[in-house]
This record gives sequence, C-alpha cells and structure tokens, in this order.
Amino acid sequence: MYTADVVICGAGILGLTIARELVKSGAGDIIIFDKEDGLGYHASGRNSGVLHAGIYYDPGTLKAKMCLQGNQRMQAYCEEHNLPLFKSGKVIVTRDESELATLDELEQRATANGATVEMIDEKQLAEIEPNAKTTGRALHSPLTAVVDPKAILKQMRSELESTGKVRFFFDTRFLSARKDSVRTSQGDIGYGLFINAAGAFSDKVAQAFGISFSTP
Ligand SMILES: Cc1cc2nc3c(=O)[nH]c(=O)nc-3n(C[C@H](O)[C@H](O)[C@H](O)COP(=O)(O)OP(=O)(O)OC[C@H]3O[C@@H](n4cnc5c(N)ncnc54)[C@H](O)[C@@H]3O)c2cc1C
Repeated sequence: MYTADVVICGAGILGLTIARELVKSGAGDIIIFDKEDGLGYHASGRNSGVLHAGIYYDPGTLKAKMCLQGNQRMQAYCEEHNLPLFKSGKVIVTRDESELATLDELEQRATANGATVEMIDEKQLAEIEPNAKTTGRALHSPLTAVVDPKAILKQMRSELESTGKVRFFFDTRFLSARKDSVRTSQGDIGYGLFINAAGAFSDKVAQAFGISFSTP
C-alpha cells in the first residue's frame, strides 16, 4: 500500500495550489492523485482563463479580498515563469439605460473592494474596444487579464515534482474512504491528512467520509 503524510484527491488548480502551500510550510511527503491520465481535463484546464479583478463580489467578503490578491499574485507568477499573460483589461457595457444603475453599483462595489476601475464614455470605449457598444457609459477594469490555465498547471506540476516531496498518481480514481486510508482504482493509499480537492466531484468524496449529504 502507498502511504503519504498528506494525500490530495484532485490534480486541478486547487489540489496543486494546496500542495504548493503545504510544501512551503514544511510538508515533506504528499501524494496527489487524479482519476484522469494527466492535468487539466476538468474545470482547471478548460476554463476561460480570466483573472478577474475584484469587481463583482460583496465588499468585505473573503472572496472579494482573495479575488483581487489572486489576480495580482497570478500575474506575478506568470511573469516570473514566462507563462502567457494577456493584459487585455475588460469593459463592462450596458444594453440600454435600464442597466446604468447596475453599472453604478458595480463601480461602487469595485471601489469598496479596492479594485481599479474607471467609468468611461462612449468615445473612450471606442478607443479601447472599437467593436463594443454601450449606452452612454461603460466600466473599464484595466487589471482584468487572461492566462493559459494549462500552462500554469504544467508549471506547477513541474515545480512540485522538482521538490522531491510531491508524487502524482494519475489514472487513480477515488472509490471509498476508510479511517486511515482511501480505496482507489489503483489500490489503497494510506494518509495522515486527506484533502478533498475533487472539484465538481468533491461532494461525493465528502459523502464517502460521512460529512455531506445527497440532495434528493
Ligand atoms: C466553463 C468554465 C469557465 C470558467 N472560467 C473561469 C475563469 O475565466 N476564471 C476563473 O478564475 N475561473 C473560471 N472558472 C472556474 C475555475 O475553472 C474553477 O473554479 C477551478 O478550475 C476549480 O478548480 P478545482 O481544482 O477545484 O477543480 P477541477 O479543475 O475540476 O479539479 C478537480 C480534479 O479532481 C479530479 N477528480 C474528480 N473526481 C475524482 C475521483 N473520484 N477520483 C480522483 N480524482 C477525481 C478531476 O479529474 C479533476 O482533475 C470556470 C469554470 C468553468 C466550468
């Protein structure tokens, strides 16, 4: 039976990021297992790659704080490792006057979150994005950017493996939970700490540990 101090189910961006933080804080023996034969087959490799910039979340929430910090930290990570980073910015436009109030609310929310946004007029919008149309005003978020999610996963995997502290098991599906081990399609894996980072499947993994419930 394989064993590790920390066993992480799911090699998406969360599983890899958690492993990275654990290694930084001294963990020395981690297994990350995934049912697929490589990285990025689910949300983390198939998303739009947008680094959101703190506009939408309610001020004061952890999500608002993390979104803004995450944007900055991921941009720095991409620059540090020469990974694709398209600093496109983003414009939020209105279809008609009825949406102007929402635009104002987004501006207030973004400002309260510490995000950088600017209310622009139609002329300024045309300079930034000639193909966009709005009614009177639009909101410009210069810090919104686009990354290549698969390139980020690949870089993180290589960094984690190079520490010698993290092993990746692919083609390994979580089947059931025991007190000190999990049963997988490749046999049992013993753990000191088990981390559920199985994305859209994480509710099923939680249920196997008796800490979630099925909706009818
Ligand atoms: C269409 C779409 C577009 C998005 N666009 C953006 C965006 O532009 N910007 C942004 O910030 N976020 C975006 N997101 C959200 C973002 O992609 C997710 O929040 C993030 O990828 C979740 O990562 P994760 O590691 O939790 O999940 P996942 O990437 O899904 O990873 C979970 C892993 O667990 C594995 N797994 C599942 N079940 C098992 C099992 N039984 N045994 C073993 N392994 C298992 C899976 O194979 C998978 O690799 C988007 C999401 C979607 C769906």
